[in-house]
Amino acid sequence: LAQQFNVNRSTLASATAILHSYGVISATTGGGTKISSNTWSLLMSRPALNWHNYTSSGQFVPNQPTIQTINQLETTDFTRLSTGELAPSLFPKKLMRQALTDVTTELNSLNYLPPEGLYELRVALAEYLKQWQIKVNPENILITSGSLQALQLISVGLLTHGATIFTEKVSYLNSLEVFQSVKSHLVGLPFDNEGVAFWQIPQSNAQQLLYTIPSYQNPTGLVMSLKRRQDLLTFAAKRHLPIIEDSAYQDLWFAKRPPLPLKSLDTHQTVLYLGTASKFLAPGLRLGWIVGPQAIIRRLSDVKMQTDYGASSLAQLTLTKVLQSSAFPTYLNDIREQLKQRCLLALTALQDYLTPYATWRKPTGGFYIWLQLNAEISVNQLFHQAIGSEILFNPGKVYGNQATQMIRLSFAYTEPIIFRKTICQLQQLIKQQLET
Ligand code: PMP
Repeated sequence: LAQQFNVNRSTLASATAILHSYGVISATTGGGTKISSNTWSLLMSRPALNWHNYTSSGQFVPNQPTIQTINQLETTDFTRLSTGELAPSLFPKKLMRQALTDVTTELNSLNYLPPEGLYELRVALAEYLKQWQIKVNPENILITSGSLQALQLISVGLLTHGATIFTEKVSYLNSLEVFQSVKSHLVGLPFDNEGVAFWQIPQSNAQQLLYTIPSYQNPTGLVMSLKRRQDLLTFAAKRHLPIIEDSAYQDLWFAKRPPLPLKSLDTHQTVLYLGTASKFLAPGLRLGWIVGPQAIIRRLSDVKMQTDYGASSLAQLTLTKVLQSSAFPTYLNDIREQLKQRCLLALTALQDYLTPYATWRKPTGGFYIWLQLNAEISVNQLFHQAIGSEILFNPGKVYGNQATQMIRLSFAYTEPIIFRKTICQLQQLIKQQLET
């Protein structure tokens, strides 16, 4: 080789040694020196595809970086005051085990179900909704893979590009890019103690709708009054304004039920009502539902079919058994009581440690306390300090720019004793920040 390529023998030897040390070639005694197999595949491959053009395309814009950070860190051992889920210690093991046993005992196949969902589940939900005075037939219900998918189906199945979606300013929707696939505009409306200022929605020929979380709103925990609900419905009927009512936390009241859902007062078929099993039972089931006029359910079922052929059969069978179980109402009462206790303990911790630094409102249901930090405290800095101490909370800015002094704390996930300890740590971090 040295002669053929007219190079010095020692140069060739050191080159061979280097290639060998990098694993590009391999030598066996008596077998000579060979190019390693993975080197061949590397040599034969074309230049790597530049995926960037693809990862920066598509219908979805990325989640906000802060949300991405929180999502990543939620898989670690961090203390999660950010998490909108029930604590694992509240999981109804017995109820779920019984439901799963019943399901597997009766299971004969796991084929596709109709895209609108398991009929028995829709019957069970129609029955369940009666307690909220929502009187519907199973045909008015579509089962979705979580209520997040319901929002997705609505946006790709019902909206035109550029539709305007009015929300409470601040809202869960601002933390999601869910309506981005139709390039819609989110417009936040102010709200007071009674609820959203719907009358500020301008008259328009363009497509527009209102998304609202009337009971135990995410992130504020606020409840829309009965009067505001009635007035909103009158306005919506007059304006032909569709309303998406997100009832995710509705069942989780502490002392008394919230006012009746918009859907139960909806005489003009203006409301698309969204429910979910995620907050009162188990988000891992990935089950939600849309209640609406049959034409809407048919259209969205067709879109659902094209999206994923329907929600998981196993999950639907399981939820049906849970809803049919005589132990279910007791479980729900118990969860309400547990959340109420957790909330009380969380408020005591805040009172003890954060009184001079923040203000907050006492929630009457749901998972969250919406806290306003004093102006001299940087929420952004506190968020990063907290991450340094392995603590997660949701800074208000993810729900909208006007909420930069706010933070959302969930008392549903973290055990009360840890919650208290963590609030004490946050107090230390605030003190540190104010001293420097
Ligand atoms: N709506 C609200 C108000 C929520 O807080 C959440 C979950 N954080 C959802 C919808 C979506 O829940 P899921 O898709 O699990 O039903």
